[in-house]
Amino acid sequence: MFNETFHKNHIRRIAIVGSGLAGLTAAIKLQRQGHKVTIFEKSRGPGGRLSAKRVDGGSVDMGAQYFTSRNPDFLPFLAEFAGEDSFATWNGQLGFQSKDGSWQSFPEEPRYVGTPRMTALSRALSVHVNVIAETRIERMLRTEKCWILYDITGEPMGQFDQVIITTPPAQARDLLAQSELPQLAAQLDDAVSRVLPCWAVAVQFSENPWPRHSGMRCDHPALFWVANNSSKPGRDSNSPDQKGTWWVLHATPEWTNQNVDAPADRVTAELIAAFRELTGTAVDVTDAIAHRWLYARSEGGAQPGHLWFEEQAIGVAGDWLGGGRVEGAFDSACSLVSASAEPPVSR
Ligand SMILES: Cc1cc2nc3c(=O)[nH]c(=O)nc-3n(C[C@H](O)[C@H](O)[C@H](O)COP(=O)(O)OP(=O)(O)OC[C@H]3O[C@@H](n4cnc5c(N)ncnc54)[C@H](O)[C@@H]3O)c2cc1C
Repeated sequence: MFNETFHKNHIRRIAIVGSGLAGLTAAIKLQRQGHKVTIFEKSRGPGGRLSAKRVDGGSVDMGAQYFTSRNPDFLPFLAEFAGEDSFATWNGQLGFQSKDGSWQSFPEEPRYVGTPRMTALSRALSVHVNVIAETRIERMLRTEKCWILYDITGEPMGQFDQVIITTPPAQARDLLAQSELPQLAAQLDDAVSRVLPCWAVAVQFSENPWPRHSGMRCDHPALFWVANNSSKPGRDSNSPDQKGTWWVLHATPEWTNQNVDAPADRVTAELIAAFRELTGTAVDVTDAIAHRWLYARSEGGAQPGHLWFEEQAIGVAGDWLGGGRVEGAFDSACSLVSASAEPPVSR
């Protein structure tokens, strides 16, 4: 029905749902091709799981901890659109715990962080595109000529030739189901079942409780990952006048599932107790905050890069389609943009 509008030479009005790295990447690339792009984001600002919370003395990364760059296009893209100053190499000593409890080093590989916080990347990228924040898209209506998107109040948010959904799979499935696209929604069932939740707690210790590592993948029933946030480059919290050290504790999916509705103060106390058990530290805690991620990361399953429903002019991208993680979100957006730029198959 829409095919004549999709030719790569045509300027399209494109709505992108979600302003995480996948949405921002797709928006910048599509805009560069000459399309008119609008991003809708339910939260107050862009970034999604590139997330940081303000704390006394700076901020702490609550979601993604660092990123890799195996795709040779990734760092140049960030340098061009987010700027060289928005990220830096994290030279921290990272390790993981073997089944026997001993600590091993992570394989050598450059690892990067946003500076002075992970959201620096998304903030800088978002400057190039039109992001309409605090707008949750709940439903899409297909007319003869376009898609109309509606927010949760039922307000129409504009007319578009094409929609790209870059949310985690559960939210993408809900949106497709609400938009009378049950067959497309059903294609996401497997991906939805593979998303894992994560309780995240940031803790300020009066001094560094574990100087041996800057970040560790743990073999512990409650803790999956712990990291010294203050060891990352450019953090305000590692300035000389800042007392204490901020660590981030991420719970395992199993522990999170068991405690998914537990109050934040109990989660905080139990994860700090688990960290003390893991490291043997008795250093005082001076502050703490918690955040619950219902959709933290995806495990296994098909990784086709993206989904592109040409008949409906709907694309889906996100980390969960590109191998997970920050770089997977970039890869997925790139592969969708390439696929949706192909001329229509002649019938
Ligand atoms: C605790 C945790 C630790 C992690 N650690 C790492 C790590 O160390 N390294 C790494 O590489 N990756 C890590 N990740 C994963 C990484 O954060 C993600 O892979 C990546 O940020 C996902 O980007 P995305 O654009 O695909 O999705 P998201 O960042 O989730 O963006 C989706 C956006 O869609 C918005 N949205 C959802 N529904 C709607 C709607 N209906 N209307 C409008 N907007 C909507 C959301 O608010 C969000 O902003 C971690 C994630 C978490 C949570």
